[in-house]
Amino acid sequence: MQNGKKATGLCAGKDFILSELVMEMGDHHLCTSDDTPLRADAFDMSSEEKVKKIEGLFRQVMETLGLDLTDDSLRGTPLRVAKMYVEETFRGLDPENKPSITLFDNKYQYNQMLVEKDITVYSHCEHHFVPIYGKAHVGYISSGKVIGLSKLNRLVDYYARRPQVQERLTMQIGHALQQVLDTENVAVVIDAKHLCVASRGIRDTHSATVTSFYGGKFGNGAVKEEFLRYAGMTTVY
Ligand SMILES: [Zn+2]
Repeated sequence: MQNGKKATGLCAGKDFILSELVMEMGDHHLCTSDDTPLRADAFDMSSEEKVKKIEGLFRQVMETLGLDLTDDSLRGTPLRVAKMYVEETFRGLDPENKPSITLFDNKYQYNQMLVEKDITVYSHCEHHFVPIYGKAHVGYISSGKVIGLSKLNRLVDYYARRPQVQERLTMQIGHALQQVLDTENVAVVIDAKHLCVASRGIRDTHSATVTSFYGGKFGNGAVKEEFLRYAGMTTVY
């Protein structure tokens, strides 16, 4: 991208995928699209079949690294990793796992901002397959419907449990909230650590990455300031 081959922005399309750029993108944590890049046959295999296949492939990775899979400590690792990938860390790839959202009428006519802050985020960097972890703060101004509070957490968790880049994760949550809440007035901020930055490469254990999404009224400076003030509040129990 830095050498200007067709790309016009961070997510400028797929026609510039040249091998040297692909490696460069991963190192710079850039993404090609707002959508998670999925194959057309992504769900032809059942979850059970995927676990079985990944178990065999991960065994090959471990054996290639020289590990002795007959050791009792390592014997169960390929299956454990396969189940973790399919059933936990990457369960958000499967639309079947998308939380069902029920909206309620806003009978009490609450028309101010609602902020759910400090939502735990556990995701994985799609370039290195190591964890991204941190907090998400989401806010919305009701269009007449309200959402069960825990659904906000569940929606964040669903999109986090995919191989991700933080910018895409932020946008996916923002767009999903706009859709389910039927309003443009949605804000999302994610503040997270990337283990690919902390534990390898530059090995910076102190830096964190902040990304944001502001829709509708949240584009207004005063509204955005109010949201950020609430998100930054320390709750004393
Ligand atoms: Zn990474």
